[in-house]
Formats: sequence, structure tokens, C-alpha cells
Amino acid sequence: MVDFELNTDLWDREHLWHPYTSTIDPLPTYKVVRAEGCELELADGTRLIDGMSSWWCVIHGYNNPVINAAAKAQIDKMSHVMFGGLTHEPAIELGKLLLQMAPPKMHNIFYADSGSVAVEVAMKMAVQAAISRSGSHKKTNFATIRRGYHGDTWNAMSVCDPVTGMHTAFGSALPVRYFVPSPSVAYRDEWDPACFAEMEQLVRSHADELAAVILEPVVQGAGGMWMYHPQYLRELRRVCDECGVYLIFDEIATGFWRTGKKFAWEHAGVQPDIMCIGKGLTAGYLTMSAVLTTKDVADTISKGEAGVMMHGPTFMANPLACAIAIASLKLLESQNMAERLRHIESILNEELAPAASMQNVADVRVLGSIGVVEMKEPVDVGEFQKECVRRGVWIRPFGRNVYVMPPYVITDEQLRYLCRQMLEMVEGLR
Ligand code: PMP
Repeated sequence: MVDFELNTDLWDREHLWHPYTSTIDPLPTYKVVRAEGCELELADGTRLIDGMSSWWCVIHGYNNPVINAAAKAQIDKMSHVMFGGLTHEPAIELGKLLLQMAPPKMHNIFYADSGSVAVEVAMKMAVQAAISRSGSHKKTNFATIRRGYHGDTWNAMSVCDPVTGMHTAFGSALPVRYFVPSPSVAYRDEWDPACFAEMEQLVRSHADELAAVILEPVVQGAGGMWMYHPQYLRELRRVCDECGVYLIFDEIATGFWRTGKKFAWEHAGVQPDIMCIGKGLTAGYLTMSAVLTTKDVADTISKGEAGVMMHGPTFMANPLACAIAIASLKLLESQNMAERLRHIESILNEELAPAASMQNVADVRVLGSIGVVEMKEPVDVGEFQKECVRRGVWIRPFGRNVYVMPPYVITDEQLRYLCRQMLEMVEGLR
């Protein structure tokens, strides 16, 4: 029996803001006392199999001994030192590892604090480079697709989906961007060129105002959990090149094997000019992100009016975060991740398939280690999570999507249990 009272903290409820939460009527929160591998332990001793990887980032599981050791070794040398005028081995080693993994065109790295800040930096890079390249101060706007999610800071919000994102709450305070519909052709369906027509027209007709097109390649995460056809990216690359518009891939959620490839651009074989990574970069240990770009973009910025990239956060290239990221990347390198992800994908496919015939389900889709059941009606998150805790799993739906994206270390038994509980709960929904 779960002791819900013991798992709740009244002081927390009164004083601490949780993500997207009302202070008057907050959703329940459960107190976690420790976590190990793929399991979270609550205050009353209840264990939950984690289906969320703490929002995509805990790729190697919790309390990973290899990463713990790397963190402890670095903390005894130095946790932090400023990056202005100084450098350090963890930043250099991580940079080398990242460039080995990244699209071959990537050449320069900017370390940032979080996913949202990486998006801000990427957008600033695009504007600085676009003005420098064209000599026109008009080329400062952005185009994107609906159903996207890029973070909660100002510019990141402005390119999130205007309906499910934060445009309603902030209204005219947000910069106005160009939107076209989310690509309608699903990842595994047959390509239809009509799906790209609006984007092509938009980029061609507004090229003189556009610094860049920004989007999540292949998988749109928190804005809709939608997986679209990679051909869209090939067409987009062609049009951006023809029109002198940069292309930014936000790989913050899709990076580090989540979609079954190291990064999602590989599904299309199309390289961006600027790429954001985060989340899995530090395996869920610390907040850090990075923006990667080509030598051409970097040098174009440096030849511009400012002559420098105009950003420099206090915690840039934090050595502790870098050391953790190095350990995580080496762990990825030491395993056959392609095979591992194929295995997880096949179990997700097998276990979630029965949902497709449920009356209340609109769609079931799986790519890599992401399994989504899209409902016909929105899900009551509070009620759903209460039932999750009773059943010993951790899933956090949003809108009409109930989905899992577990740590890659999940065992077959844990994954099957997670999926079966999810399906039983989904079946019980209205
Ligand atoms: N971009 C994408 C694609 C994301 O999924 C997220 C986080 N969900 C972000 C940006 C923002 O990252 P952060 O929450 O670390 O600021």
C-alpha cells in the first residue's frame, strides 16, 4: 500500500513552485528520497520504474557508479573556474569528443547553461551571422513549424507552438515569428511533397527578413511528441541554402541516441548550420548545454560589427559538468548503442501495439526509445500519476499524449512492466 501522506510535503506545497504549477491548486508532488538505475524510491519506500528519464536526460540511469566516480574526481580538483581568459582540460576533452560525434561540418562549440539558453545562443548566433553575411539589419527574424518546443526563455518561447506553447500567456510581449503547420507526413509514411509547400513558400517570400529556420529534427518533443518524415529536412536544407537562410536544429531532446541514432539529423543525412544539444549531455547530473556551429558561421560572426560572439555566461563550460559529460559520452562510446536502441524500440513496438485498437486512442508511435500513445481526449495528469504511483511506475502525460522514454539501462522486465501498466491505465481512461 502506498502511503500518499508520507510522500507529500506540506511546506513544499505551500512555498515551492514546481514546473507549470498553480500556487492555489497545485498538482500533487511525490517526495523522492533516492534513485538507482531505473528506479525512483519515494519517502514511504515505494519504488517506481522511471519511464521519463527525468525529462529525457537520465540516459544511463540514476546513481551511475562510473559517472559518480568522474564527478567525485573532478570535485576534488575544481568544481568551477571562469571561462573568460582561462580554459581547462575537461572543456577541451569534452569538445573533442563532441566534434567526433557531431555532424562533420560542426567546428566551433559554445558551452551554455541549459537547453533554453542554448536556443537563445543559437538564435543570437544566427542573427549576428545573418547580419554580418548580408550586411542587412533586416535579417533578424525566424521561421519554424507548429507543435515545436524550444524552452521557456523569451526567444525560445517565441518559437514554441503558438497554441500549446506560451503565446497566450505572454501575448504581444513575445517577438512575432513565422509559423507553418507541423510536417503532416509521419516518419514511416510515404513522402508527399505537398507537405513541404508552405514552408518553401514562406522561406522564399521572407528570405530578406529571415536569419534562420529553427526546428527539432524528426521528433517534435514537448510540443506534440510527433515524429515526421526526414525528407522534410532535406527539402528544408535545399531551400535554406538557395535563399541564404541559416538552419538551426534543436537536438536538445533528440540527441545522444534517444531517437535510435546518435543525433536525429542522421535520419535525414542533413547537417544544420547551428545545432543545440543539452539534456542527455550530462546524463541528468548537472545542467549544461552546448551550441555547435560551422567554421563559416563562427567566422562570419567574428567578421561582423561586434567582432565577437555576444554571450558569456558565468557558469560557461563548468568543469564539473564537463567531467560528467565526458564520462557519459565515453559510456555511450563503450557500448553498441545502435543495437541497444533497436532492442528497446522493438519491445516498445511490441508492447504498445495493442493500444492502436483501443476506442479512446488516436495514434500509437514509436521511434528509438520514445513510445507515444496519443489519446483522443486530454489526460488528467494528477489522477493519472496517482494511479502510476499505485502501480509502481512513473509516467507524466501532457495534453493528449501518454508517453515513455526510459533510461537506456532499463531491463526488459522493467520495460515490459512499464508498458503494460501504461496500457492498462490508458484503457481505463475515458
Ligand atoms: N529544446 C527542446 C527540444 C526541449 O525538449 C527542451 C526541454 N524540454 C528545451 C529546448 C529546453 O531545455 P531546458 O529545459 O534545459 O531549458
